[in-house]
Amino acid sequence: MSKAGNPVDCLIVGAGPAGLVTATYLARFRRSVKLIDAGGSRASLIPVSHNYPGFPDGISGNELLARLRMQAQRHGVEIAAGVVDRLSRQDDGSFIGCYGADSVQAASVVLATGVIDIEPELPKLTDAIKQGYVRHCPICDGYEVIDQKVAVIGVGKHLVKEALFIRHYTADLTLFSLGRKIELNDADRKLLSDQGIRIIEEAITEVCIEGRKIAALRGAGGEEHRFDTVYSALGTKIRSELALDLGADCDEAGCLLVDHKRLQTSISSLYAVGDVVNGLNQIIVAAGHAAIAATAIHHQLSK
Ligand SMILES: Cc1cc2nc3c(=O)[nH]c(=O)nc-3n(C[C@H](O)[C@H](O)[C@H](O)COP(=O)(O)OP(=O)(O)OC[C@H]3O[C@@H](n4cnc5c(N)ncnc54)[C@H](O)[C@@H]3O)c2cc1C
Repeated sequence: MSKAGNPVDCLIVGAGPAGLVTATYLARFRRSVKLIDAGGSRASLIPVSHNYPGFPDGISGNELLARLRMQAQRHGVEIAAGVVDRLSRQDDGSFIGCYGADSVQAASVVLATGVIDIEPELPKLTDAIKQGYVRHCPICDGYEVIDQKVAVIGVGKHLVKEALFIRHYTADLTLFSLGRKIELNDADRKLLSDQGIRIIEEAITEVCIEGRKIAALRGAGGEEHRFDTVYSALGTKIRSELALDLGADCDEAGCLLVDHKRLQTSISSLYAVGDVVNGLNQIIVAAGHAAIAATAIHHQLSK
């Protein structure tokens, strides 16, 4: 590990919407910030977001990220590419964050590390996501699939919850388990059937995009099922390890628990914002977290 350079007021880990907005706020509070990012923000997968305020015609995830990055950099925020692989606490209360051969010392840390979607193992998946044929978040874009022919991939209670949410938008709904046991009890099956939701339990091997709208899934026997849109509801992996290694509290899924007045974790001066926090995974929530956390950090450092 190299010797840490000048200490900064705040180390921010992750340059998705949560980390970038936190950086802009702190820079405008005249705080020194180091922002380190491994790349691949979830937002980079959004073809067009129609629920983020201020963009009535929608905005792509990459365009929004570019604007947020520019806004932070215009305030002098330095963004380094890298993976923060370890965070430790010093006797004086400051943190050391290590990334590759480098390290940084910081009076406070904001984790804006997000989550990773657990994806179905399907070829051509990334293309399908970027074109909006495969979706992950009906809260974000259920409105876009009103009255469409929709499928949901998943298992168990999470699948049921997601299906019932999407049923609000369309009556033409089919569930797949990708060949795995679908793990639905009789009560859930009745609930789904009462809503007219179909279940297919055969293995699915490929997502094909045909024409401008159709996503087709090929069954193991070569049979095709055609849909306008497929939702993947396989859950997420929470990127909270850095905080958990320091002993921070989390929920059952691994999302960090915070004091929502300040977004501080159970460890003093260690904050968390965006999807890594237990709550609603939305860009506007990430931005709100960022504003609250940055202001709390500014006040804490002023004491
Ligand atoms: C297909 C899709 C469509 C969506 N549509 C919408 C929508 O329309 N509206 C909406 O509000 N939300 C939408 N979302 C959700 C939205 O993308 C997330 O809520 C948002 O990106 C969360 O921001 P974040 O900054 O918390 O995390 P992210 O954007 O995921 O950013 C986390 C960053 O942290 C970095 N990182 C993680 N660990 C480390 C480490 N150890 N060291 C360095 N860097 C690290 C990652 O590389 C990443 O760049 C969508 C999500 C998906 C997948």
